[in-house]
Amino acid sequence: MNTAETSRPDGPRRVIVVGAGPGGLTAARELERAGHRVTVLEEQDSVAGKCRTVRVAGLAHDLGGHICTNRYERTAELMGELGVKTERTTRYRILDVERRTASRQAMSFLRDPALRRYRALREREFPRIAEPGLAHSARALAAPVADWIAAHRLQSMAASFGPGYTAAGYGYLDDEVPALYFVKYAEMTGLLSPGSELLGHDGAFTVTGGFATLWRRVAAELRDVRCGVRVRSVQRPGDGVRVLTDSGPLEADDLVLAVTPDRILPVLDATPGERDLAGRIRHNAYHTTVATAPGLPDNAFYFLAPHTAHRTARGHCVSYHHRYPDSDVRTFYSYGRPEDVAALLPRDVARLGGRLQEVHVHQPWAFMPHFGSGDLEDGALDRLDALQGRDRTYYTGGLPAFELVECAVAHAQDLVRRHFPPAQGTLTPQERIKEERTS
Ligand SMILES: Cc1cc2nc3c(=O)[nH]c(=O)nc-3n(C[C@H](O)[C@H](O)[C@H](O)COP(=O)(O)OP(=O)(O)OC[C@H]3O[C@@H](n4cnc5c(N)ncnc54)[C@H](O)[C@@H]3O)c2cc1C
Repeated sequence: MNTAETSRPDGPRRVIVVGAGPGGLTAARELERAGHRVTVLEEQDSVAGKCRTVRVAGLAHDLGGHICTNRYERTAELMGELGVKTERTTRYRILDVERRTASRQAMSFLRDPALRRYRALREREFPRIAEPGLAHSARALAAPVADWIAAHRLQSMAASFGPGYTAAGYGYLDDEVPALYFVKYAEMTGLLSPGSELLGHDGAFTVTGGFATLWRRVAAELRDVRCGVRVRSVQRPGDGVRVLTDSGPLEADDLVLAVTPDRILPVLDATPGERDLAGRIRHNAYHTTVATAPGLPDNAFYFLAPHTAHRTARGHCVSYHHRYPDSDVRTFYSYGRPEDVAALLPRDVARLGGRLQEVHVHQPWAFMPHFGSGDLEDGALDRLDALQGRDRTYYTGGLPAFELVECAVAHAQDLVRRHFPPAQGTLTPQERIKEERTS
């Protein structure tokens, strides 16, 4: 295997992208716009990855990623280019399970003197946190989040952003997860820095008819997207990339892995460096359950107190979304083992005065690929960055970018712009947009 980054001709490159989630599809779109020839391989029967949508009684319910904030400039640009219709998202509420009362989120941090201290800290220690990627801020924010909050007296930040962070699958603030992920999440809510209006929305928005619509549109414009394909082996002998799939062999100049490295490791001719990094990746066991459950509070995205407060509540429902006023279908979110989630959800619903009538879909996720504190201090994300281009292989997706759609999109675009110059005679994506707008 060739371990150096090889010099490449100026002509079109043949690229295999593994994974048709937001990261892989964005990378493929960017590559094709730069004049390269791309084949996307996806093991599921449809595209969209963790942004899948299901239909229940004629209504679209998002199983995973769908909420966009005013920090989602690149995603909004993509939606604009593809003419995807968007709408405001439902309001947020804290729902106290014991008292059965709903209230607005206090967000006291935004009016607290601690916010000024946080901004000074950000300026001094992690000024690039809002930029695509995580590696630039990883060492400064490697400490476990609870230790970091205590060390900087940012308890009001934890009180304001903790319930949403935990409700969204990133873990409990008393878990050992590095502060990096909490701070990135808080920044991406758009509440810490003023953002501009996007697609006519001054707050959070989503895709009308389900978020998978966006990814299906992206895929429809690509030349070669293959779903339901199992990758059997990936060889990188030096002169190219050879991928054996259950429907035959493929050859290319380069490989973009838009899947978490540990998912592809079993079939990859991995180097010791790749093997080591893949072995350090952690995930959260997080679940989405779409169910008919009448009798619960309506018309909001509810974060359940005290289930979002401590990891001892693992298994219990941490949040639910009631999206359509005339429907009793809700989307519930929980952590833990599938059997605990299945046992505790009906009890949580009953405790809130509702009834779990019918489960339509239960989807477990290996959510939020991340490294632990020790590995971040040790430069795990820098090592992943240093692997970009080695053995003709590039890595994108939640691990280097963070588990949010905008982060996946921005990272994939920047990766392609940095490593794949436009093939000769091809307009850059920016030139092409300019030309399309003026013609
Ligand atoms: C419940 C939930 C709620 C979320 N809410 C939000 C939200 O509101 N806003 C937001 O911005 N983000 C949200 N996210 C996160 C967002 O969905 C992800 O960050 C985003 O989908 C990551 O994109 P990706 O391309 O990196 O990975 P993925 O979406 O995971 O896509 C990876 C793709 O690779 C495929 N794959 C894996 N292994 C292989 C293999 N060996 N061969 C071929 N294909 C393979 C998978 O099937 C998948 O299609 C949520 C996620 C979940 C699960």
